[in-house]
Amino acid sequence: MGVPISQMWTVASYVLGRRLRGQKRYPLVLMLEPLFRCNLACAGCGKIQYPPHILKRDLSVEDCMKAVDECPAPMVSIPGGEPLLHPQIKEIVEALIKRRKYIYLCTNALLLKKKLDEGLFTPSKYLTFSVHMDGQQENHDFAVCREGTYQKATAGIRTAVEMGFRVTTNTTLFDGADPNSVRRFFDEMMDLGVEGMMVSPGYAYDKAPDQSGFLQRKNTNTLFEMILSNRHDGRNKWRFNQSPLFLEFLMGKRDYECTPWGNPTYNIFGWQKPCYLLQEGYCDSFDELMSQTEWEEYGVASGNPKCQQCMVHSGYEATAVDSTFTSFGGLWGTIKAMVFNTYASPPARELLEEESKKPHGPMEHLVQLGFAVDVKQDGSREVIRRTDENEKVA
Ligand code: SF4
Repeated sequence: MGVPISQMWTVASYVLGRRLRGQKRYPLVLMLEPLFRCNLACAGCGKIQYPPHILKRDLSVEDCMKAVDECPAPMVSIPGGEPLLHPQIKEIVEALIKRRKYIYLCTNALLLKKKLDEGLFTPSKYLTFSVHMDGQQENHDFAVCREGTYQKATAGIRTAVEMGFRVTTNTTLFDGADPNSVRRFFDEMMDLGVEGMMVSPGYAYDKAPDQSGFLQRKNTNTLFEMILSNRHDGRNKWRFNQSPLFLEFLMGKRDYECTPWGNPTYNIFGWQKPCYLLQEGYCDSFDELMSQTEWEEYGVASGNPKCQQCMVHSGYEATAVDSTFTSFGGLWGTIKAMVFNTYASPPARELLEEESKKPHGPMEHLVQLGFAVDVKQDGSREVIRRTDENEKVA
């Protein structure tokens, strides 16, 4: 079980309450982005592409709480940028805990150990550090374009777990991910003692600098079928901090439509239309966002080409959660997925074995931001940083 009972109860009663009131559209997780700047420059990230005067700006504690008080979502995710760089992150977290919001503070964890050693935070059932981990050491360091990041992040996780904090990981998978390595990575995270893991396919949103490494729907289903099936070798103990129905959706076992209002996003520009990924304007208030967005223009059924390949958790997890708490089929499906979670699949096993014979690893991804591979005459390869002077880094 990756989510504590008290949090599940809060979410269940919130969803049922909204449904009993006949509310068709309601938010589940507020995505509160208090800043865009970061101490990393990951290849898949569009946030750090903003110009310096935007990257310097922070939302104040008052701005954050105004947004939180407008939006009734029981959970608040704090992505960024890197939230631990925000000068008032302690105050923001404390104010959210006072409001009994379940917080997912999304961090690359480079500063986590330092901040915890300084006593910045106190363990609470409302506070979870959601650590960005993109795979085993080699893959993670390559994905975030900096060596040593995995070691620092895992040191932060260990410290947080030892101090009694709730810790989860969040992982985004891109085209070409090695399913066998991802399975070993999940084992590693379980061994570290995290409460649960979150996983989502990457999506080619406009601001992402590298558009070529994102997964299409069919590839997403195949990849997740390989990763999440055949868990009888002890891997049925993997804990996920997300809906099992969403994971089945990624595996191609369920068909869902997007719930773009499920994870509304607030940042220095205001309330972002329509979802966390697309930026099609901003509203001044949460009510305006809900009432003035043409929601029927988004999601696969709308025919909107921007939505056709998208399966991200910020769009579809809310659909899965709603299904669990508002339909017998959804509830039964969730119970079944929690009890019978080995997902035996000989075809997925075969595919996994085939994948183990293929070349994988960072060197096979030639598209990372700021990196290129120089293939020499003797066939050996060398990673070089793409700068004006082509400064050699390895
Ligand atoms: S499918 Fe949903 S989450 Fe994905 S881009 Fe479209 S509106 Fe956004």
